[in-house]
Amino acid sequence: MDPKEFCIRGKQMVDYIVDYRESLDKHRKVFPEVKPGYLRPLLPDAAPEEAESFEDVMSDMERVIMPGTTHWTSPHFHAYFPSAFSYPSLLAEMIITAINSIGFSWASCPAATELEIVMLDWLGKALQLPVEFLSGSGGGGGGVIQRTASDATLMSMLSARHKTLTKLGREQPNQVDGKHLSKLVAYMSDQAHSSVERAAIIEAVRVRKLPSDEKFSMRGVELEKAIKQDKENGLIPFYLCATLGTTSSCAFDNILELGPICQREGIWMHIDAAYAGSAFICPEFRPLLNGVEVRIGQVDKLLLEHHSWNFADSFDFNAHKWMGATFDCSPMWVKSRKDIVNSLKVEPPYLKHIHSESDIITDYRHWQISLGRKFSSLKLWFVLRLFGIKKMQELILSDVAMAREFEEFVRKDERFEVTNEVKLGLVCFALKGSNELNRHLLEAVNREGKIHITPTELRSKYTLRFVICWGNTRESVRFAWEYISSKATALLSSPSE
Ligand code: PLP
Repeated sequence: MDPKEFCIRGKQMVDYIVDYRESLDKHRKVFPEVKPGYLRPLLPDAAPEEAESFEDVMSDMERVIMPGTTHWTSPHFHAYFPSAFSYPSLLAEMIITAINSIGFSWASCPAATELEIVMLDWLGKALQLPVEFLSGSGGGGGGVIQRTASDATLMSMLSARHKTLTKLGREQPNQVDGKHLSKLVAYMSDQAHSSVERAAIIEAVRVRKLPSDEKFSMRGVELEKAIKQDKENGLIPFYLCATLGTTSSCAFDNILELGPICQREGIWMHIDAAYAGSAFICPEFRPLLNGVEVRIGQVDKLLLEHHSWNFADSFDFNAHKWMGATFDCSPMWVKSRKDIVNSLKVEPPYLKHIHSESDIITDYRHWQISLGRKFSSLKLWFVLRLFGIKKMQELILSDVAMAREFEEFVRKDERFEVTNEVKLGLVCFALKGSNELNRHLLEAVNREGKIHITPTELRSKYTLRFVICWGNTRESVRFAWEYISSKATALLSSPSE
C-alpha cells in the first residue's frame, strides 16, 4: 500500500475505534471466554512473505484478537485498578506516534523535554504537592514521567541507595567493597505493592515488611521497632516506601507518623500513590496526602519539632489509572534532582551534546532505567487542557459517589459484609461465610463475562474487590450489584454449584 492508501485506512481506523468505544457496552463481553493457547492455531506459522490487505488484517482483529481481549474500559469492568481512557489522550497518542521522537536528552527533542518539565509543574500544582517538588520553584526538585509506578519505586530506591552508599563511602572510606551494600535495609508494609519487593531484588538490598494495623495502615510504632532492631543488628536503614491507596484495600499508610521518623533517621521516604494520587486533585481528598506536606494548624506539634514539612523525598502516581491519560504515564517528583540523576549518570560519547553540561538542561535519560522514552507529556497537555481541572475533579467525585452507592448496596444486604474502609473508588466485600464460598461467588460472577471483578486476601480473608473505573456509569454499577446479588442467591440456595 502506498502512503496515500494508508491515509484512507487511517480514517477507517478512526471509525473502527469510535465504533469499538461506543459499542463496548452492547456488543462485547467484558471478559473473554477463550482458553490458554487459543490464539496460535488461529494464525499461520510464520510472517507472510508478501504484504496482505488491510481488510484481511482488520477482519482478523475481529476473528483472532477481540475474542481474546479483556475490555478494560468497558462499563462492566470493575477489576484491578482502572486503566483510564479519554479521547484527549487517544488523540495525543496519535500525534505522539506520528512524531515518534525518542526524547532521551534535551537535544533529542527539546519540546518533549521542556513540555514534560512544565506539565509536571502544572500537575504538581493541581495536586497541591509541596513546592519543593516543582522545578519552576527554583529549588532542586523536579518531575519526570516514568512508565509505571514500579519504575518509579525502582528509581527512588536506586537514588536512596546511591545517596546512602555515597555518604557512607565518604564517612568510612576504608570499608571493603560491598560491605555497606550488604547492610542496607528498606521498609515496606505488608500491604505494599509487590513492586517494592521486586525493586529490592533488583537492587540487591534486603527489605523488611512491617505489619500494618487493623485498618491496613503502616504505623510509626512498627517502623520505630524495626529500625531499633535492625540497627542493633548492624544494619543500615535507608529507604521506606509508604503507600497511599494500597492495591488490596485502598488503605493509607500513616505518613504523618512515618515521615518524621524517616527524617530523623536519614531514611528516604517514597510515596507510592499509584491509584489514589489522582484523587488529590479534589480538595475534598487532599487531606489524605498530609504528611507529604503538613498544613499549618493541622499538626502544630509536628511543625514545632521538624524544620521541614515535606517528609517525602519522592512521590509517584499513575495518571493512566485515574486521570484520563492512557497507559502508560506515571508522573514522579523528587525533592532533589541531583539524587536521582547521580544514581544513574553514565555519559557515553555518542550521547554527549554540546549543551549537556549546562545547568538548565534536563536530560531525562538520567532519570529512568531505559534510554528511550515517549513524548508522553503531550498526553498530559491534551488531557489537562481539553478537560480542565474542574472537569477532572467532577469525574473523580462522581466515581467516588458511585463507589459509595455500591458500598450502600452491600451494607444493606445482610448476607454480605464490607471489608475495607471505603475512601475512594474501591469497595472490598465478601459474603459472610467461608473463603471457599467467596471463591465460588467470584467464579460465578466472572463466568459469563458480563461483569469482571478480581479478588484479594485481607488477613487471610478471601475478599472480592469492586473498583469504579473510567467508563463505569451509575447504570453499570447498579447492574453489577444486581448481578452479583443474584449469583449470591443462586449460590446460597445451591452451595454445590
Ligand atoms: N503500587 C500500587 C499501590 C498499585 O496499586 C500498583 C498497581 O495497581 C502498582 C504500584 C504497580 O503499578 P504499575 O503497573 O504502574 O507498575
